[in-house]
Amino acid sequence: AEAEQQEASHRDYDAVMIQGISESVELLGELKRAVLEGQIDMHYQPKVDLRSGRVYGVEALMRWNHPEKGSIPPGRFIPRAEQSTLIQLITDFALERSLAQLAAWHKTGMDLTMAVNISTRNLLQPGFTAMVLSTLEHLGISGEYLELEVTEGALMMDMERTLEELTQLAEANLVISIDDFGTGYSSLQYLHQMPVSLLKIDQSFIRRLPKDRSAGHILDAAVSLAHNLGIKTIAEGVEDRRVFDYLQTTGCDMAQGFLIAPAMDAPGFIRWYQSCQGVWKPGDPANQPQT
Ligand code: C2E
Ligand code: MG
Ligand code: MG
Ligand code: MG
Repeated sequence: AEAEQQEASHRDYDAVMIQGISESVELLGELKRAVLEGQIDMHYQPKVDLRSGRVYGVEALMRWNHPEKGSIPPGRFIPRAEQSTLIQLITDFALERSLAQLAAWHKTGMDLTMAVNISTRNLLQPGFTAMVLSTLEHLGISGEYLELEVTEGALMMDMERTLEELTQLAEANLVISIDDFGTGYSSLQYLHQMPVSLLKIDQSFIRRLPKDRSAGHILDAAVSLAHNLGIKTIAEGVEDRRVFDYLQTTGCDMAQGFLIAPAMDAPGFIRWYQSCQGVWKPGDPANQPQT
């Protein structure tokens, strides 16, 4: 009876596995079509200088408007796309759409930088650096306006090749930043080896400020380590006023989060930017996100 039961639970397990795999396969097929059929869009979340409040740039975040399922968050499809070569199509799309948007903003005098999330697989993809640089050139945008957000895991995958790619990108003045800093295999070694110029301190620490003293110590340590290496820091996930005020008392350089604004579509971002005239101050009613 025991063997039978085991057999049955194996079958259940297999069934769940197979269902999971086929859902993934189905999702990837749909995702590819979604890109080609225009169901994918980029939204933009502002990033501000902590001292001056200047809105110096945005992070591009992908949105999938599925015709039947509605809006699908990137956390549900990006990790699966990263398991396949589809991530190349996804990243090409993100870069092209966001940089075309940036070029349009520059024409109207909006002096902003654009940050795009890229995956480990992108850095190991032949011709990736050349593709990025030619997209910039084609749009007439100089390198310092593009920031590439990579996670710590990406840097640890194949250090030698990653270093080669990142060095070429950094030589073209691109900003290389470490996303979700503190959640990965934080190795202090890569920080001084890799041409990194910005650390994005993960939301999980920022959210616990200002009460949680250990989160405060982690922030201080990350900021001072970064500054000693000539690297700037940005706090992610700033959701309330007390956190923002606290951050201003630290050495952290920039902030991003729902307190300032969520990611907005391009027209929404322009309205928001114009209403604060490119400088965000906490508590200013003119700065409420426009959706
Ligand atoms: P991420 O790169 O760490 O992006 C920040 C995420 O935090 C975004 O979620 C953003 O909407 C959310 N966020 C911003 N401020 C706050 C806040 O104050 N509180 C909270 N709770 N959340 C905040 P989103 O847009 O759902 O994206 C999730 C992840 O999906 C991103 O994390 C990124 O890793 C990935 N992703 C999004 N777009 C792309 C893309 O175009 N390409 C790639 N490769 N990955 C992407
Ligand atoms: Mg990011
Ligand atoms: Mg990311
Ligand atoms: Mg992050």
